[in-house]
Formats: sequence, structure tokens, C-alpha cells
Amino acid sequence: MDCLFCKIVAGEIPARKLYEDDQIIAFHDIAPQAPVHFLLIPKRHIATLNDLKESDKPLAGHLLYSAQRLASEQGCEKGFRLVMNCNDLGGQTVHHIHMHVLGQRQLHWPPG
Ligand code: AMP
Ligand code: ZN
Repeated sequence: MDCLFCKIVAGEIPARKLYEDDQIIAFHDIAPQAPVHFLLIPKRHIATLNDLKESDKPLAGHLLYSAQRLASEQGCEKGFRLVMNCNDLGGQTVHHIHMHVLGQRQLHWPPG
């Protein structure tokens, strides 16, 4: 398997995990862009959002709800940002879908 995040799921690469269940893992981003910056990923390899299938809707909802719960646990009740970059033009560098959760600093729009 040549996917970085699949290696994290398999425990072949270490990660600072925040949460794990049978479907998803959350871990701190290695290059944080905010005081709180973690990633949520499905354990199953899905390369980009374009590869999401209708049958993945419960998984997508689980990711979204877990992001909100973990953001709260990380003290981000005042506000936070979710980002999912899709494919090269969207700025995606790791081709295993992941939700960025950023918080604990003032975020601006549009993003820089
Ligand atoms: P993206 O550009 O949306 O594909 O985001 C990929 C993210 O993965 C970046 O924010 C990287 O800092 C992060 N990243 C890359 N390698 C690792 C790693 N080994 N552990 C944790 N985060 C990583
Ligand atoms: Zn993968």
C-alpha cells in the first residue's frame, strides 16, 4: 500500500491520535496551521471526494459529526473551520480523503 494515511491506519507510521473507532481515525496534523489542527480520515481508502459513493453517506456524516465533537473537546466552541481539499486543483496533497479541523485562532475568509 503506497498511501501515507493507509500506513497511519495500519500503524506503520506513527501519528498522535485523538480518536479512533471502527470507521475513522483522528490525529494531529504534522504541520499545524493553527493551535488546534487535526485530521479526520476514514480507515477505508477513498482517494478523493470525487470517489465518494452514495453508500458512503453514513460515513461522511460520521466524519462531520465527529469533527464537531472533537473540535469541542479541543476547546474550539468559539469557532473552528473544516476544510476538505479535493484533488490537485483543490490543493489536495495526500490522496486519501481527510477533513482538516482548525481552531484556537482567528480565521479569515477568503483563506490565504
Ligand atoms: P492536504 O493538502 O489537504 O492533502 O493535506 C494533507 C495534510 O496532511 C497536510 O496538512 C500535512 O501537513 C498532513 N500530513 C502529511 N503527513 C502527515 C503525517 N505523517 N502525519 C500527520 N499529518 C500529516
Ligand atoms: Zn489510503
